[in-house]
Amino acid sequence: MYDEFSRRQLLKAGVGFIGAAAGTVVFSDFATVLAESSGVQDRWRFCRKCQAMFFNGYDNKGACAAGGVHEPAGYEFVLPYGGPETPNAQRDWRFCGKCQAMFFNREAVKGACPAGGTHKAAGFNFVLPHDVPPTPTSQEEWRFCHKCRVIFFNGFDNTGTCAAGGTHEGAGYNFVLPHYP
Ligand SMILES: [Zn+2]
Ligand SMILES: [Zn+2]
Ligand SMILES: [Zn+2]
Repeated sequence: MYDEFSRRQLLKAGVGFIGAAAGTVVFSDFATVLAESSGVQDRWRFCRKCQAMFFNGYDNKGACAAGGVHEPAGYEFVLPYGGPETPNAQRDWRFCGKCQAMFFNREAVKGACPAGGTHKAAGFNFVLPHDVPPTPTSQEEWRFCHKCRVIFFNGFDNTGTCAAGGTHEGAGYNFVLPHYP
């Protein structure tokens, strides 16, 4: 029920953005991701230490590549799952049951996990919007780290500690992730 509430709230927000930019396809693509998803999950947060996206809904916050456990900061993200892949949304983003970060699970290589070994998928199949204009309730500059496979915030000079060594390195799409106002 919480999920349904969140989804409706986002759809309502999405409709507003379409209204504000009438005629643009990209905005409606963003709304389509939300409309076609099975649901959304909130409690996803930015870790101020390693800059990865992690799920903050459990008592255990997950091993952080920067040491200790993840520490949330900033927005509470609300991420869609269960929808189709589209030109502006990518499937196969998963929660790692070991380090609690979001990582890309499509390929055989799973990426170094700060909890040891490699990431292990659990739960929903998230479908993340990318390369659409940011809105008042979405943030751009979320990127795939080609070294450790997590999604991290690339908007600062410091890109965050990477479990594969050094700092995260962005590759591929510019993800634009929905969050609560
Ligand atoms: Zn962290
Ligand atoms: Zn992991
Ligand atoms: Zn990394």
